[in-house]
Amino acid sequence: MSELTGKSVLITGASRGIGAAAAAELAARGMRVALVARDHAACEAGAEAIRAAGGEAIALSCDVASWTEVSVVVSAVRDAFGGLDALINNAGVIEPISRLADSDPEAWTRAFSINALGVYHGLRAALPIMEAQGAGVIVNISSGAAYNPLEGWSQYCSAKAAALMLTRAAHAESGPKGVRVVGLSPGTVATDMQRVIGASGVNPVSKMSWDDHIPADWPAKAIAFLCTEAAREFDGSDFQLRDPENRTRLGLG
Ligand code: NDP
Repeated sequence: MSELTGKSVLITGASRGIGAAAAAELAARGMRVALVARDHAACEAGAEAIRAAGGEAIALSCDVASWTEVSVVVSAVRDAFGGLDALINNAGVIEPISRLADSDPEAWTRAFSINALGVYHGLRAALPIMEAQGAGVIVNISSGAAYNPLEGWSQYCSAKAAALMLTRAAHAESGPKGVRVVGLSPGTVATDMQRVIGASGVNPVSKMSWDDHIPADWPAKAIAFLCTEAAREFDGSDFQLRDPENRTRLGLG
């Protein structure tokens, strides 16, 4: 039994990668998990695996770029679980990878809507519920890209910088009402996103060796840690999983 046992969590981008690993990790710690992404079949498969292992999980379909869809899904999860204790704003896309001067405005805006507005939509839907409860935690998945401009990644870097400021702004406003908001910058992780980056051949991240990337269950463990009271010192900031001290603290590496 851990402090997370019986608590409810909604994870966006839970159909694969870090989100799917986080769903498994949080369920293993006793949380009741809602897996959310556009690929409903993949979320349902993750939920079924959790249920088969004795956990509680549901799957819902949602495009985080749509405020209407996010608000409907957050309300549905609150109703299904009788509250919402945690939200993991994890959904994200790297493409389109292109220089600003060559970028397609429609594709750039669409991706920015997922990476930045998706986080805003999650916060906007969950904060009133959590403030009314007087408790809750929201983890926004950030990136080193929030701090460093990289060729071809103007959309991704600026959206992640926006997500970081949303973490800080939400913490400043809702922290006093009992809601913790924290970011996670995972470092590079061996997921489909890194396959897309590698195939692009653009900027130094694409040239990294696959062995340099950490497995998805590392950020999943970091997310679980950030959901606990022990992580309070990181509220309103990005927890850096590249930091050797932080890895040691989580028993990783
Ligand atoms: P993946 O590409 O493996 O997974 C991305 C997830 O986001 C999928 O579940 C996808 O589901 C979901 N998603 C994408 N668009 C939407 C949308 N419009 N609405 C709802 N869900 C969506 O990537 P990762 O697991 O690697 O990435 C997860 C997070 O971690 C992202 O925010 C990413 O930016 C961040 N990150 C990743 C790093 C890495 O090296 N991999 C490094 C730093 C940060 P579906 O397509 O079914 O909707």
